[in-house]
Amino acid sequence: ATMPPLLSAIANAGRHGVLVKSAVVMERLGQVDAVALDKTGTLTEGTPRVTAIRPLDGSGLDEDGLLALAAAAEHPSEHPLARAVVDAARDRCLHVPAAEDFTSAPGTGVTATVLGHAVAVGSPARLLPAADSAPVEAAAVLTAELEREGRTAVLVQRDGVPVGVLAVADRLRPDAAATVTALAALTGRTPMLLTGDNPRAAARLGADAGITDIRAGLLPQDKVTAVREQEAAGRKVLVIGDGVNDAPALAAAHTGIAMGRAGSDLALETADAVIVRDELATVPAVMALSRAARRLVI
Ligand code: ADP
Ligand code: MG
Repeated sequence: ATMPPLLSAIANAGRHGVLVKSAVVMERLGQVDAVALDKTGTLTEGTPRVTAIRPLDGSGLDEDGLLALAAAAEHPSEHPLARAVVDAARDRCLHVPAAEDFTSAPGTGVTATVLGHAVAVGSPARLLPAADSAPVEAAAVLTAELEREGRTAVLVQRDGVPVGVLAVADRLRPDAAATVTALAALTGRTPMLLTGDNPRAAARLGADAGITDIRAGLLPQDKVTAVREQEAAGRKVLVIGDGVNDAPALAAAHTGIAMGRAGSDLALETADAVIVRDELATVPAVMALSRAARRLVI
């Protein structure tokens, strides 16, 4: 028997490296008329590297001490920034102490007890207290300097006091700009960027990918709100993301696609489809397959 068009399309999508979870999803992919992309790990390669290690004066830490402390707290996290920190510590052959009481807050960072100290590692915008002490001021100045260069600043605090800032840099995927152009052509609308990262780094990366509609500093629930706004305006939104922080938006969207290689388990489970081959350009290809199949069904 010949296969129904939507099932052939699923097989075809598989050949393109996209796992589409059902015929219903295959059909919905062709209805999408707006796209929202996550930044870290989706628009970027998701293999960020630590490019600066800046212990603060008075912290008593040198570069290795700061990095080891951060790596200890980040060790259990599956966030791409956490992997960058842990890898940097490994590259320097540092002894990373064990951490206890690990917690992670999507879009913010992690906390853990390391050698009896409460350590927090994450977004300066979310973690830096407003109170003006010398370490807070110094951390804020360093953060602004690093972010202006398009890098992501990662704050390290010990017992509530900033002890240093790490800079992490990630590259745009090689097919990001072409994919943005293809998605704009398919949907009639330039995709938007939804990110928990800082506005300065987001603007720099978005511009390089050809995206002008950029929402930065978002918590997972803010990503949901951005999607709901679009859907309230009558649009069928495709969300493409990779992180735990993208899972609520992937669930809220008309259709959700997760990046498979570096994607978190929660994103992979929540999404309607998974990009198995690590290429963003497979998304417009699969949307075109869906449209072709729908023409055969109708
Ligand atoms: P994106 O939406 O771009 O994928 P996330 O929402 O995952 O980014 O993260 C947003 C911000 O939260 C990061 O830029 C970082 O400042 C902070 N953050 C989240 N998780 C971590 C972590 N494990 N380590 C360090 N920083 C983190
Ligand atoms: Mg991400």
